[in-house]
Amino acid sequence: MARRRYVEAKMRETARLFGFGEVMTPTFESTELFVARSGEGIIDELYAFEDKGNRKISLRPELTASVMRFYVNDMQNLPKPVKLFYFGNCFRYERPQAGRYREFFQLGAELIGAPSIESDAEVIALALATLKNLGLEDVVVRIGHLEIIKGLLSDIGIEGGEQKHCMAYIDKHDYSGLDDYLTGQKKKTKAKKLLDIIELTKDQYGKADKKVIDYAEIIAPGITRTVNGLNYLKNVMERLGTYGFKDYRVDFGVARGLDYYTGMVFEIDAPSLGAEKQICGGGAYTLAGLFGGQEVNSTGYAFGFDRIMLALEKSGVNVPHQNLSVYILPIGDEAKIAAIKILSELRNAGISADMDLMGRNMSKAMKYAASINADKVILIGDKELADGSLTVRDMKTGNQEKVPISDIKDYL
Ligand code: AMP
Repeated sequence: MARRRYVEAKMRETARLFGFGEVMTPTFESTELFVARSGEGIIDELYAFEDKGNRKISLRPELTASVMRFYVNDMQNLPKPVKLFYFGNCFRYERPQAGRYREFFQLGAELIGAPSIESDAEVIALALATLKNLGLEDVVVRIGHLEIIKGLLSDIGIEGGEQKHCMAYIDKHDYSGLDDYLTGQKKKTKAKKLLDIIELTKDQYGKADKKVIDYAEIIAPGITRTVNGLNYLKNVMERLGTYGFKDYRVDFGVARGLDYYTGMVFEIDAPSLGAEKQICGGGAYTLAGLFGGQEVNSTGYAFGFDRIMLALEKSGVNVPHQNLSVYILPIGDEAKIAAIKILSELRNAGISADMDLMGRNMSKAMKYAASINADKVILIGDKELADGSLTVRDMKTGNQEKVPISDIKDYL
């Protein structure tokens, strides 16, 4: 928990640096909210049940829907943009495996009400700054735009359910499945441009930068939605560069699988995690209208917090956690009273301190202090009481020093 709290605090701090304010929402919501967001199919993935009042409720599988419900209920009149972040537990009824749990934590951000390239760039920049501040460098950031592929699909008459089908293949990066599907639909020949463009960024981990967009523009002239998507992406990339972020790649295959995404989409992987490597997913979306509010453009993402912890560990990033500064060992009854006095003084001065409550002898107390990672041990016995001093042992170096009781706070 100490490590998790440290990482959590760093992530919160970065969000606040970017002007995002924290919100908290309830652990459960009406099931309808999640169905409205993701369709009936979501119920299989939910901890959904009826409460004693026969209300259909679910433990939240993510927080975007809850935050947008909160926004629609209480924040629509706030000046825009509304910049929010959250940290909370989520529940999904799925088969647990490494990096995939039934209860896990997400830390995410939503920027609501500013329909601009700048707000998309700001949200990606926050995600990247968060990882930078954690020191997690072993990641692959993939940015795309849904209109690029959707424009191409519409151009060859693939719309509605068929289009969703194709996007599902793309979302899974199942390009041979897509190929077979298009062949089956007798659209393969017509889909040449689509397949050529997908081919440009097919390798998720190879290099793909602005040049890819230039190639794509050559392949897809006149397909307005696609060209607009490509231009938009170029503009977002230019801004990200100005923020100081250049280490990402373009991926036309980011599809995010949900209907409410409208344009820019991005995903971040930590390849060290193996199969469950995605640590973040997000993009531009609209949801307020669906929840009965006035429609606004939003951009957001969610980090999988547990996976970030795993990735930090795998990448060997040192995550400091707070040790106890001082462990006090009184020897004798009189020393116990003196120890409590020093203990309280240190705690009041903000120095974490504990004392022996077990009547341990010296060697056992030293072993115990080492096991709880205490930085220093203070010894108080008859001798120390007689001359008004303390013996302070540094647990790292093993050095011992005599320190007058009156100087102990400053000394520490
Ligand atoms: P999603 O809301 O599905 O886009 O998920 C956002 C992030 O949450 C993913 O990128 C994962 O890092 C994390 N995540 C999703 N499902 C789980 C799970 N079952 N266990 C742990 N982390 C998860």
